[in-house]
Amino acid sequence: MNSIDEKLQPILSTVLHRNAGEEEFHQAVHEVLESLGRVISKHPEYADEALIERICEPERQIIFRVPWIDDRGDVQINRGFRVQFNSALGPYKGGLRFHPSVNVGIIKFLGFEQTFKNALTGLPIGGGKGGSDFDPKGRSDREIMRFCQSFMIELHRHIGEYIDVPAGDIGVGGREIGYMFGMYKRLTNRYEAGVLTGKGLSYGGSRARTEATGFGTTYFVQRMLGTRDTGFEGKRCVVSGSGNVAIYAMEKILSYGGIVVACSDSDGYVVDEAGIDLALVKEIKEIRRGRISEYARLKGEGSHYIKGGSVWDVPCDVAMPSATQNELTGTDARTLIKNGVIAVGEGANMPCTPDAVHLFQKAGVLFAPGKAANAGGVATSALEMQQNASRDSWSFEKTEERLATIMHNIHDACAATADEYGAPGNYVLGANITGFVRVAEAMRAMGVI
Ligand code: GLU
Repeated sequence: MNSIDEKLQPILSTVLHRNAGEEEFHQAVHEVLESLGRVISKHPEYADEALIERICEPERQIIFRVPWIDDRGDVQINRGFRVQFNSALGPYKGGLRFHPSVNVGIIKFLGFEQTFKNALTGLPIGGGKGGSDFDPKGRSDREIMRFCQSFMIELHRHIGEYIDVPAGDIGVGGREIGYMFGMYKRLTNRYEAGVLTGKGLSYGGSRARTEATGFGTTYFVQRMLGTRDTGFEGKRCVVSGSGNVAIYAMEKILSYGGIVVACSDSDGYVVDEAGIDLALVKEIKEIRRGRISEYARLKGEGSHYIKGGSVWDVPCDVAMPSATQNELTGTDARTLIKNGVIAVGEGANMPCTPDAVHLFQKAGVLFAPGKAANAGGVATSALEMQQNASRDSWSFEKTEERLATIMHNIHDACAATADEYGAPGNYVLGANITGFVRVAEAMRAMGVI
């Protein structure tokens, strides 16, 4: 890892001590603090009144029991979380993740990242994140519904249109949001559409929300490639994952004339030199809720499935890690660099290890960090909130156009900040500083809160 400014060392020590064992949270804080040395030498006022310490400490952390009854009639217990990280810019905003790996450290890392990501969108949303260690894999639709209902029975007292607005993340999509919205409405006796985003189009959802994260990441990378006078056209791309982010990143890459040769899930990856058949991936993942191994079986000739292994062994020009945190390691980065990768865009949250990020930067590979590149999802959630507040519903074209403008603005703001702080082309620094300054300015204006 890079070093951090000595004035910021005590802040990191406090975070490490106070949040013992929460590795992902430590990693996320370390990465932001690495960028802030340059800010406090230029603007020492940002280090006053323990501002940075306050930004590293969540405003509120809620942990609760989620009991539910499975299809066999047995009682199951999971743990639920909501970390309300920072509300300087607006109500807490961020997704819910249902995955067995979820713990308070993971939710805190995600909430911390979300705070800066949301600031980068330029829209009035604070940062938060939640979820559960519930594993949806192999669960029936009825079990999913009962779990979501039980989860909301506790969560409803902590959220609201002006308080905290959850959405989806890994393991939480339109189906789960629907079950949770139904229970929230019943518990509160209010049709408060703006309390959750990622809703279905039949009850207050926004067009283009499903596509937004993947589309947004691709817009960002296209603009970043533009700084080197190139674009996706004719480029070989590898997109890890095959969930919502990966699917719509692939769709946009294809529309730009790129070729996606591989994608994956947590069991393995598929390679199709003719170009991944996106309609087939959608059918396997969105309709059958199956595994990516089925792709090679159904597609047959020309494609193959590799169980385990690393999707980053597949040579490509552009890599878009869109699965989960720390999925792309230093070893993977070395392989990608050796194979001639020119750009990496993080569709997931913190998918590249710090080691991998530094290797890309050292090798001159264009690198788009998740908190900037994948902000299109939450930005479109904020557009959903706008539509709900004005009791309106926009066309797909209008919503997508707004999304594209937001992503271009984020790209340009990160690039301009990197220039201003003497690190041209360093989007990590640009994103961290731009997001931090927006949150810090609002907090300074509000006194010690
Ligand atoms: N989970 C998404 C993210 O990581 C979206 C959050 C939202 O829409 O609130 O940004």
